[in-house]
Amino acid sequence: MGSPGARKRYQIEMAARARAAREQAKRARLKRGTAKRVMALWNAALAAGWRTIFYPTVGTALDTGCHFLHVVCPACHQLGELDLRTIDIHPNAPLGAVVRRMSCRRCCPHPPFARPLGATPRSWLDELKWRPELKQELREPEAVYEPNWGRSQAKRKSDKQ
Ligand SMILES: [Zn+2]
Repeated sequence: MGSPGARKRYQIEMAARARAAREQAKRARLKRGTAKRVMALWNAALAAGWRTIFYPTVGTALDTGCHFLHVVCPACHQLGELDLRTIDIHPNAPLGAVVRRMSCRRCCPHPPFARPLGATPRSWLDELKWRPELKQELREPEAVYEPNWGRSQAKRKSDKQ
């Protein structure tokens, strides 16, 4: 049977651990919430046509599950997409560094820099493979630039099903 002193020390230690775990969980929740807002702000800024405001980091996109980065070639309007999970890049690197490398291959030898469209949790290409009519919708500027385009894409898909 342990002494009361040891029991008290045990209780204090357990309370401290529980408090630390709560604080850790709270910090993680705040960080995740902030990251989500940052990605939403960036997507909204891009949708409004403001491309020079800032670039979130690759880590922010991955933490929020926005794995798919979408770009468009300003010259030929070819859409491009990249799964950020598949590339080897430091999580602190800005998405701009990735966008720079996604310049159009069709417009060689001097392609303009790709224009970012945003990052979403879902891939567009999966749908394009099977549904060519969606390709036409995505090429229409209003389909790409409207606010909450990610949400409207999801809604459009669920409406059709
Ligand atoms: Zn091009």
